[in-house]
Amino acid sequence: MKPQTPARRRFIKQVILGASALSLPRLNGLAGPAKERLGVALAGLGQYSADLLAPALQRTKYCYLAGIVTGTPAKAEQWQRQYGIPDRNIYDYPSIDKIASNPDIDVVYIVLPNALHAEYAIRAANAGKQVWCEKPMALTVNECEAMLKACRDNKVKLAIGYRMQHEPNTQAVIRFGKDRVYGPLKSISAAAGFYYNRTGHWRQKKSMGGGAMYDMGVYSLQAARYCSGEEPIAVTARQSTTRPVIFKDVDETMTFDLEFPGGIKAQCQTSFAMSMNSLRVNCEQGWYQLEPFQTYSGIRGSTSDGKTLDAFLNSQQARQMDDDAFAILHGQPLLAPGEEGLRDIRVVEAIFSSAKTGQRTVI
Ligand code: NAD
Repeated sequence: MKPQTPARRRFIKQVILGASALSLPRLNGLAGPAKERLGVALAGLGQYSADLLAPALQRTKYCYLAGIVTGTPAKAEQWQRQYGIPDRNIYDYPSIDKIASNPDIDVVYIVLPNALHAEYAIRAANAGKQVWCEKPMALTVNECEAMLKACRDNKVKLAIGYRMQHEPNTQAVIRFGKDRVYGPLKSISAAAGFYYNRTGHWRQKKSMGGGAMYDMGVYSLQAARYCSGEEPIAVTARQSTTRPVIFKDVDETMTFDLEFPGGIKAQCQTSFAMSMNSLRVNCEQGWYQLEPFQTYSGIRGSTSDGKTLDAFLNSQQARQMDDDAFAILHGQPLLAPGEEGLRDIRVVEAIFSSAKTGQRTVI
């Protein structure tokens, strides 16, 4: 049997205490006294939570780090020390449902491996909490639809962690397209990738939703969709690998050409084998581009008439979470709701199908 360190004893005690609170009345969404800030529990304390989200939650105005969900007692102890999280707001995965009776926590932010998004988002919604979920929303259209249903049934909102939609230079190019500033759009190219040098990580396992397409490909796909303002009607995709042993299960590089109903074509690429980070939109009367277009900071762009796009944003993650918290607190629409994640996954399914058959796939 494992020795019981003080941290482990506290962790177990908390989980047991959580269980005894099950009979408390269930909170639905934001029922109760009006709040000015939402308490957020991060579910999954990996790299993104530790390096980006938790620090960002120290500077947000409309939400704050209230709790954590982790399977590792040592992490619980370290986060508790670092962020002053009270015992009552610490959960492990089996006890996540008990968050239902915790008034400190308004939002559960799912930051887990992709294959776990659907299960934990549904459990958070069933606990009556607002749900924020990292990209990709889930692995299949069926999972996305089940997540949306759980949120509808529990009258809570579902936001997807598409941070670029909250970024000012990205918002500028979205407006260029909407307002046809450079005339009708003709073609888009978007490429997002990096050299992934880890081995044995969940990002290389099919069962965990690994592969470049789910991880980075959604940035290229999102960009094609938010720049065109349209939904693609067909896709032709090709998959390739340079490291068949490491990437035997999942895609290392995926290229996909999208066709939009108004005639716009998008050439997209994503990869775990090479570095790429660019977005370009060609229009009848000019062009605009962002390079890089999806790094955590330093998004920059230019246009055919000499404009520079370089609006500064301190933290994309803080902006995203504040936008989402503000929208929830004030009953306003979310910038990137669950329906947006679902639209991407519908196309991702078509991309995988086309890559497998080698045929153009109608979406
Ligand atoms: P990570 O591997 O660093 O962390 C994953 C966490 O999940 C770890 O704490 C791990 O302990 C936990 N976990 C729980 N159950 C697990 C299981 N069965 N197998 C493996 N790990 C398990 O990953 P990450 O980079 O933090 O990514 C987490 C999510 O955040 C992913 O969905 C990813 O796409 C997303 N993400 C988004 C951005 C962004 O810019 N929006 C950036 C990075 C990651």
